[in-house]
Amino acid sequence: MGKIKFKILIVLILAISCFSFTLNAQNKPNENMTLSPSEQSIVAIAALTAKGDLSNLKTALNAGLEAGLSINQIKEVLVHLYAYCGFPRSIRGLQTFMEVLDERKAKGISDITGTEASLIQEKGSKYDRGKKVLGELTQMPQPATLSGYSAFAPIIDPFLKEHLFADIFERDVLTYVERELVTISVISAIGGAEPMLRSHLNICLNLGLTPTQLNEFTGIIKSTLGEKEEKEAQKVLNEVLKTVPIFPKGEKITSKNFSGTVYLKMMGASDTALHTSFGNVTFEPKARTNWHSHPGGQILLITEGKGYYQAKGEPAQLLCQGDFVEIPRNVVHWHGAAPDSEFAHIAVSLNTDDGGAVWSGPVTDEEYSQSTK
Ligand code: MN
Repeated sequence: MGKIKFKILIVLILAISCFSFTLNAQNKPNENMTLSPSEQSIVAIAALTAKGDLSNLKTALNAGLEAGLSINQIKEVLVHLYAYCGFPRSIRGLQTFMEVLDERKAKGISDITGTEASLIQEKGSKYDRGKKVLGELTQMPQPATLSGYSAFAPIIDPFLKEHLFADIFERDVLTYVERELVTISVISAIGGAEPMLRSHLNICLNLGLTPTQLNEFTGIIKSTLGEKEEKEAQKVLNEVLKTVPIFPKGEKITSKNFSGTVYLKMMGASDTALHTSFGNVTFEPKARTNWHSHPGGQILLITEGKGYYQAKGEPAQLLCQGDFVEIPRNVVHWHGAAPDSEFAHIAVSLNTDDGGAVWSGPVTDEEYSQSTK
């Protein structure tokens, strides 16, 4: 009975995801995925447990199971959060979950138990393993010497690294993303821990959560905890997002048509209806395009840093964030970063039916230094 329901659910989920994929493929609004129903549930469960709002927690636990979280995943959420709000809240959460499961069993609902944590294969001391996990999360090498609070009270350092980042984080019942969603929910619920919220929101971005998903997160904080908690979390999130590029950087490109290190994120592919294509191009200092022209013209919208546009035979034009350039059809030109600054622009190719860029030779170091001095 349970299995059949589960199969129907899977077929439904597949059907819905195929449908929404088609929608996205047609409209191509953006790639900002939303939090999945199970991720939304994780946020609500963690926030309500940390707050000790057990009656609303019951509703959230039921919703989490309905959204497809396994019993073991929810247990793991309730255990993980003790590191951030203490055993009493964690244990009250687990006890509430036991009640919910009993009630559901009495109604004949059978929930999925889910997998247990795998055995740890990692070698090395627990301290080093925790340090490694922390490095992966923060994308920063961990300092060799202690500073700040951990120099002041050094015993907290092995507790954090060995227990939180090794013992807890190495358990693969939840992904790092799911664990961080638990963490930011709990920190938002307890309040007064803005520096920790700031670092964990940055970790969320490192792990690939998008600004849209994090704004969705604060929306769930509002609906589960209230406006006060949401405002505090939103304030920290807004500060964090100010330091993040507006558009994703994309992948490093290897092309003989560019000099230096350049990243590209295509956003709108060429199509027969709008006759345009556009992408975000990020140039490291000194990086630039070769000389080229566009049969259909091009628009550049500068989003970051300092760079130049130069049409052949004319002086180079300095470009900063907020500037734009309209490049007429077939005008030979180059664009790229200043010698001392990164530079990013959205490049919009127009009238794409008239053909792609026509490339010629590189902008020599001499030409570049002459134009950008
Ligand atoms: Mn161009």
